[in-house]
Amino acid sequence: KVRVRFAPSPTGPLHIGGVRTALFNYLFAKKHGGDFILRIEDTDQNRYVEGAEQYIIDSLNWCGIPFDEGINKDGGFGPYRQSERKSLYKKYADDLIESGHAYYAFDTSESLDGHRKDHEQQGKTFIYNWHNRLKLDNSLSLMPEEVKAKLDNGDDYVIRFLSPPDETLHLNDLIRGSIKIDTNVLDDKVLFKSDGMPTYHLANIVDDHLMEISHVIRGEEWLPSMALHKQLYDAFGWNAPEFAHLPLIMKPVGKGKLSKRDGEKMGFPVFPLSWNESIGYKESGYFPEAVINFLALLGWNPGTEQELFSLDELVETFSLDRVNKSGARFDPEKTKWYNQHYLQETADAELAKLFLPTVEEHTSDDDKLNLEYVTKVVALIKERAVFVSDFWNLSDYFFVAPTEYNAKAAKKQWKEATASIMNELISVLKPIDDFSSENAETIVKAWIGEKELSFGKVMPPLRLFLVGDMKGPHIFDIMAMIGKEESITRIETALN
Ligand code: GLU
Repeated sequence: KVRVRFAPSPTGPLHIGGVRTALFNYLFAKKHGGDFILRIEDTDQNRYVEGAEQYIIDSLNWCGIPFDEGINKDGGFGPYRQSERKSLYKKYADDLIESGHAYYAFDTSESLDGHRKDHEQQGKTFIYNWHNRLKLDNSLSLMPEEVKAKLDNGDDYVIRFLSPPDETLHLNDLIRGSIKIDTNVLDDKVLFKSDGMPTYHLANIVDDHLMEISHVIRGEEWLPSMALHKQLYDAFGWNAPEFAHLPLIMKPVGKGKLSKRDGEKMGFPVFPLSWNESIGYKESGYFPEAVINFLALLGWNPGTEQELFSLDELVETFSLDRVNKSGARFDPEKTKWYNQHYLQETADAELAKLFLPTVEEHTSDDDKLNLEYVTKVVALIKERAVFVSDFWNLSDYFFVAPTEYNAKAAKKQWKEATASIMNELISVLKPIDDFSSENAETIVKAWIGEKELSFGKVMPPLRLFLVGDMKGPHIFDIMAMIGKEESITRIETALN
């Protein structure tokens, strides 16, 4: 059975790259009828940030990719917070010591820093492994009694994985294919610390095993850890899951991976929800469908020209072998394009509900401040909007009369004859009973024809007087919406 996990550390808000990892896990699970598990990797208490866990859960829910199993959704593999599994890991570290795959090391951080510096001075990278571990404090050559004495003495220790020398590891990644690693370049990574906490590596492998994870799908930054992880599975005698490392998400321009700073500098969100000072996608007015759609195409391609996918279609189409190896460039403009699309897809009445609070700030006129009227307005203006927050600027004149007129347009439209034409127009409008868009249009156009006026003398000033600017949909639609009286009043106001 396919079981995948998203395993964030609660060290802050979820970056958009994290959401992409969660999404790909979700899509893969759903595609194969499997389970999507949320595991909180909080073994590093120093980096724990209050509220981050709930933030992660809220973000996944907002995106519409909830987990099947995790905190408060026990699937029989809990607990799902590593801090609550603390007592479990020591045994596994001990097992590895027992089997000769791990050892106690008593190096102080000063001595390690010293070695690191020495190496640096010689232009070498310090690798804590077979080649130099004997030259450190000889931890490996310590006799079992000596180790015991140090432990009894309460000396600080760590348990390190013993990486074997001169071996070639054959790894397989579902996205990158086969990878060969020479074990001589690997560190003896710390698995367990004397504070009783496992490191990420040990806890991650033990939990993936106990939680019966079938596929590990995670960001490329974890690719270097894959060798150790595979070695750990082998050392425990466990079957390793399949691995798939997702390509990095790159800055919109220039080199390097997308960072929080890029968003701040260039003014686009990098978090799904707002966090402290940072604005999220949700608060910026993005629809979750748009965020999901654009994230899905960051590093994955369907093999066709199709760009628009519902979540169901993504589940249907997704496969790991269409995930690219190379970094995916993040394009904030594309995200807007998606949002514009999903906004057009959203029912007018739904959009009207979202828009209503803004309308409320500007008018208390019952004729306008109601869902029916707002829905009609939305239908007329939404095609120009990317966000619901664009609505007010696109539609203010449906709710309030203009208080000023676009100066440039006014200069152009205010011809000698304008006042007399507009006054005449008022007298044409006044007797109209059926003030529907079509009827008003027919009557006004008939009058224009009869008087042999040009449209250019009538329509542009009319628009300016009603709207305050040269923008907006069909002018007779606007007149029908605001009504006969209001239309006439606005023309009169402009003339005075
Ligand atoms: N806790 C790791 C993280 O924060 C999980 C890495 C993994 O998926 O193995 O990304």
